Amino acid sequence: MQCIHCNSAILTPLFCDSCNKVLEVAPNMQNDYYAFLAMPKNFEISISHLESQYLIMQMKLHPDRFARKSEEEKRMAVENSAFVNIAYAALKNDFSRAEHMLLLAGIDIKDENYMQDDMEFLDLAFQWRELSMTQDQRALSKLVLEVKDMRAKFFIEFSRLYNAKEFKDAAQFLQKVRFLDRFLTDL
Ligand SMILES: [Zn+2]
Repeated sequence: MQCIHCNSAILTPLFCDSCNKVLEVAPNMQNDYYAFLAMPKNFEISISHLESQYLIMQMKLHPDRFARKSEEEKRMAVENSAFVNIAYAALKNDFSRAEHMLLLAGIDIKDENYMQDDMEFLDLAFQWRELSMTQDQRALSKLVLEVKDMRAKFFIEFSRLYNAKEFKDAAQFLQKVRFLDRFLTDL
């Protein structure tokens, strides 16, 4: 990426560190949350790194820095600051981060059921549903741990498949995670 004003390489489409200008984000770039925060597009991220990137971007786009700039630059700073907030909120949560990664690959998990033929998983989910009817708190806690463990494993699979560009298979795992999240909420 290059700054349209000074041609310097830029780390984020939101502003240029070389000429200190806020940049207008092109419509086709408005959904790339990783680019806004200058983070590599990985599922595994360090949350503390994400937080520090967020703070750096908000500092650079702070209204005080643009008090004497043109109205247009003020407006863009406000807009880009809103992009930073949206990106940060989406990437901070594991599920929405994975969902965003799939959207970048052109897959919206709301559109299709990618896990409908996974009988093994549906069978397991049915067994869990039965187990969750218990009044035994210990058994219930054990079940919750088991489900959370599986959730973590599904994310590992998601990441592996995504990196291998097997996006539809990755989507299947994310839908399974969503299923588990609903199950955990219902408990
Ligand atoms: Zn520049």
